[in-house]
Amino acid sequence: MSNIAHWLMPCLQQVQVLKKTNSLSHALLIMGADGVGQEELAREMVKDLMCEIDQAAACGQCHSCQLMRADTHPDFRVLDGEIGSIKVDQVRLLVRQISQKPQVGQNKVVLITHAQAMNINAANAVLKALEEPAARTYFVLTSSQSTSLLPTIRSRCLLVNVPTPNIYEVKQWLLQQPDGETLSSLFWLTTQPFRLLSIQQQGKLSLYANLPNQLSALLQGAASISDVLKGLDSNNIEDYCNGLAAILHQCICHSTGAPLDAALQDIYMALITRLGIHSLMMRYQALQKLKSDLQKTNLNPIMQLTHELNQW
Ligand SMILES: [Zn+2]
Repeated sequence: MSNIAHWLMPCLQQVQVLKKTNSLSHALLIMGADGVGQEELAREMVKDLMCEIDQAAACGQCHSCQLMRADTHPDFRVLDGEIGSIKVDQVRLLVRQISQKPQVGQNKVVLITHAQAMNINAANAVLKALEEPAARTYFVLTSSQSTSLLPTIRSRCLLVNVPTPNIYEVKQWLLQQPDGETLSSLFWLTTQPFRLLSIQQQGKLSLYANLPNQLSALLQGAASISDVLKGLDSNNIEDYCNGLAAILHQCICHSTGAPLDAALQDIYMALITRLGIHSLMMRYQALQKLKSDLQKTNLNPIMQLTHELNQW
């Protein structure tokens, strides 16, 4: 049994049943909201498809399964749209590579994650490959914006809808992960389970977890701006700005009646008293501009952020 998040399990089982009965479409499109686990689900499905044993789930033992575990399977190719737009040359190269006979097992698989990042030429090249499917070749696509894909691609795929877990399911799942308790204190930032997990994996947990207390101390005069910005550099300042923007966003929403995370109560009271709702919205916009300026200008980022926080 795969150790994947339980809300992904029904989707995985649906595809496993189709595989076992030899009725699986050669193209799958896994759709769902950002951060619910489409990519993780897709990788589980790919493992099942690559396994040489004729059963629903991957055996974990055969040569293909071992190569997949080592991430060195020659019949498996990935294009990841998260790191930038997917270009037609990448698709053509990949289609050429998989047009050969499988080198190891029976099947070949192409995984395209964040498929909305395909430009129009790349999408047309994928469509062409789907229209003329090579034998025993599967395309697995994931997307959080599937409506922006070509309708002709969607219509050629088996559509797999990943449900969005509710907050209690996310919390329960997080508690089984490393630093789960701290991660589940970050719901003011996001409730996307796999975004939270990647914060832990990227070593950014304490940056976010300390933010509400630091900001609260700053607003109450118990800490200076240079105190709270200590340790920030060009590698993490964007994350810090994202955290501040999320806090402002929550406060703005709360001012119109939305519930507020307990971790932000003091901050909300301080900000609404000092700034009022109009200025709060101005600060939110200024922070968004600062974030985009960070990538464009050579101005010292800490200086820019200090200037911003001086107005809070
Ligand atoms: Zn296997």
